[in-house]
Amino acid sequence: MKVGFVGLGIMGGAMATNLLKAGFKLSIWNRSVDKCAPLVDLGATVAASPRVVAESSDVVVAMMATPAAVQLVRDGSEGIMAGLSAGKGYVDMSTVDADTSIMSAMLAHEKGALFLEAPVSGSRNPAEDATLLIMAAGDCELYDSSFPLLEKMGKKILFLGETGNAARMKLANNLVMCGMLTALSEGIALASGSGLDTAQFLEILDSGALSNPMFRLKGPLIVANKEFPAAFPLQLMQKDLRLALRLAEEVEQPLFATATINELYKAALAQGLGDEDSSAVSRVIRK
Ligand code: NAP
Repeated sequence: MKVGFVGLGIMGGAMATNLLKAGFKLSIWNRSVDKCAPLVDLGATVAASPRVVAESSDVVVAMMATPAAVQLVRDGSEGIMAGLSAGKGYVDMSTVDADTSIMSAMLAHEKGALFLEAPVSGSRNPAEDATLLIMAAGDCELYDSSFPLLEKMGKKILFLGETGNAARMKLANNLVMCGMLTALSEGIALASGSGLDTAQFLEILDSGALSNPMFRLKGPLIVANKEFPAAFPLQLMQKDLRLALRLAEEVEQPLFATATINELYKAALAQGLGDEDSSAVSRVIRK
């Protein structure tokens, strides 16, 4: 199977690397060309545009930052759609809203191609270790044919039905993650502000029902309050909150805590923390 990969950021770069290591032939494209170099060293071919990627692939995978970025690489004379044709598949693994995915599916179908949305849970390390959780929805025929690709990027892969379901599921998942990260930041701030030993605070969290890998990973970063190297950029986390709140409006579901947490993330963006890791939101909380 000839595979295309568009979007080689933190996640896409690591996921494409795993496909190359698994022996797939890859045609790649990224807005910032320099990010292609490590993949070329592993045998990938750089294409002139997303259209050329799609033309030279049976299945094209995209991993873009935002719905706007998905549209930029999807539409237009040099976009993925321009290179899709009958029998090909388009797998979008970006975290987007359901409407963006539904539009992608419609455009792919107009070309006689198949579409699968497949957003992921798991950050830089799971992307590198190929242990992502992949939530897929859309054309089950493409799910089946692209499974050999997906299983080289993730350890758990679920099919959730019609297009849009995976986007919605991913947003509900990330809403919980934002809440947990905010609670962790506030707990650390309170422990620290009360003169408690924050290392002990983390140990206590990790010893009971609140123990989880995210607290183990982000807790020490928040306690140290120095560098927040981006595993999950804060601006993308705020994008997920924004999309989750928009979905909540559509289905008339109040999200009291999430609305407040979104304001916290907006304040972090206003402080210039957008390119830092999402755990840098603790900077806004800490006195
Ligand atoms: P990233 O490192 O910022 O990479 C984003 C990708 O989108 C890059 O290839 C970037 O190109 C491209 N891009 C952004 N704006 C563009 C535009 N206007 N035109 C063309 N290309 C554009 O982000 P990431 O962390 O890999 O995240 C990718 C997706 O996965 C996002 O939807 C994110 O929400 C989701 N996700 C991330 C994580 C995580 O922990 N990082 C976990 C789960 C899901 P350049 O290289 O040129 O900037």
